Amino acid sequence: MRVSCRCGKVEVEISAQPITQFFCHCDDCQAVHGAAYVPESVYPADGVTIVKGEPASWTLKRNPRLFCRDCGTRLFIDVLGLKLRGLNGRLLPDDAFRAQFHMHCRFAVRPVKDDLPHYASRPAQFGGSDEQVDW
Ligand SMILES: [Zn+2]
Ligand SMILES: [Zn+2]
Repeated sequence: MRVSCRCGKVEVEISAQPITQFFCHCDDCQAVHGAAYVPESVYPADGVTIVKGEPASWTLKRNPRLFCRDCGTRLFIDVLGLKLRGLNGRLLPDDAFRAQFHMHCRFAVRPVKDDLPHYASRPAQFGGSDEQVDW
């Protein structure tokens, strides 16, 4: 599947199935996206490649985040230590984003009540505790 930034100058080829998809409520995502929470679709790093354009990157803490230098669309974060790429879920067609849970809900500024699990930090399968919040 090929997805692009809003202006079309950058295209990204996705050649792997997502490992997981979720909504992240962490304070880093809030800051860099200017959003209450963000949809993220996670792949093995080699399953997400830039096939057109030259996005720019910046680093908030340790992992580079790539974005289109023309339209500013956030593309993905390169999670170097785990060899993963976390794609902005809004780049996918609606039917290709199926969130499995919410995470980092302890930071939530706008709780979303739905039938998905709401983890306080991360689920155990991704190094967290599985602890959930009460909403
Ligand atoms: Zn663009
Ligand atoms: Zn986050």
